Amino acid sequence: SAARSLASCIFCKIIKGEIPSYKLIETEATFSFLDIGPLSKGHALVIPKYHAVKLPELPDESLADVMVIAKRIALAQGIEDFNVLQNNGKIAHQEVEHVHFHVIPKPSEDQGLV
Ligand code: 5GP
Ligand code: ZN
Repeated sequence: SAARSLASCIFCKIIKGEIPSYKLIETEATFSFLDIGPLSKGHALVIPKYHAVKLPELPDESLADVMVIAKRIALAQGIEDFNVLQNNGKIAHQEVEHVHFHVIPKPSEDQGLV
């Protein structure tokens, strides 16, 4: 369920509308929006409404809901090539401590590193 949230978490604030975002799709258990520092045009973040810091803390049903939305966003981008990326912990480059999946379109001219 979507019950768990953390008052000090920026992604929980985005879900609640306390921090503005460019929303893409919202469902009962998920929220998705454009990344503020995109690696390519259309770089999206998909998050569970349930506040978990790292992937192993996320209930399976929330994970399934998030992945379905990641797939839907990838389809909606209308682009064949893309990366789905998910970082856990500071050493692995996690900056925001609320589980999130990046959906990063890869246009043919893009020379980005990810
Ligand atoms: P991480 O490195 O934790 O996997 O990725 C965090 C992502 O969140 C980064 O790509 C960063 O640009 C994005 N981000 C951080 N703060 C905000 C915010 O307030 N709004 C939006 N839309 N994206 C954010
Ligand atoms: Zn949170």
